[in-house]
Amino acid sequence: MGLNKMQIQELLDEGRAHACDGVGPDHVCVKIAAIAELPSRFGQFQIVAFYNNRDNKEHIAIVRGDITNAEDVPVRVHSECLTGDVIGSLRCDCRDQLESALTMIGKMDKGILLYMRQEGRGIGLTNKIRAYGLQEHGYDTVEANLALGFRDDERDYSVAAHMLESLKVKSIRLITNNPKKIEDLTKNGVKVTGRIPHIMQPNQYNRFYLETKARKSGHLIDFGTVQRLPEQADPPCVEGMDDEQLELITKLYLI
Ligand SMILES: [Zn+2]
Ligand SMILES: [Zn+2]
Repeated sequence: MGLNKMQIQELLDEGRAHACDGVGPDHVCVKIAAIAELPSRFGQFQIVAFYNNRDNKEHIAIVRGDITNAEDVPVRVHSECLTGDVIGSLRCDCRDQLESALTMIGKMDKGILLYMRQEGRGIGLTNKIRAYGLQEHGYDTVEANLALGFRDDERDYSVAAHMLESLKVKSIRLITNNPKKIEDLTKNGVKVTGRIPHIMQPNQYNRFYLETKARKSGHLIDFGTVQRLPEQADPPCVEGMDDEQLELITKLYLI
């Protein structure tokens, strides 16, 4: 099933001894720090904690099955969103994206969710809440998005790439609707053999995407309630969208 005791010990020993020149222009290096079982409502997983030399953040891999030396491992890269993931905020769709990825991986023989601790696209929780506040003071999602900041993609993917390497994953199929993510991971040395579309189940909270309309400035608006900020950099495709809606939502997210 999962990694056995011997494999875990080997990964931990290698993590302790690991040193390399680093991935990407910033020479990002990560080491496996700890591994434990993680039974969850989405299935049986193991959780892997990493050290890294860049941001001192505790990035995590949620692992299902024996992924060491495996090919074509389904992988989802999720960015932390405390308000969405934990509190269930409706200002974004992060929790829907997280839950549907874990549900998908939980049903597979093997798979990995990389949980990257880069809240608010790396600008931190406080600045993200500042951006939310701007919306309440009349800024639109585009302006608030600018305040939210843009993700430093290069660094994100170099950490993620090294995490996969530390787990000895040979090649992956990325769970994403965003082809740019594949490009970025490939640039950082990950062998991506395919893409698995990330289609979420419609529910009362994300149903608004089905009603998203094109506006001149490309706002994402939930008519009647609150504007949402795209925090995951991955178009939220919901089961039931037609081609036109898929095209629109993808366009809005990939600007
Ligand atoms: Zn390294
Ligand atoms: Zn969020």
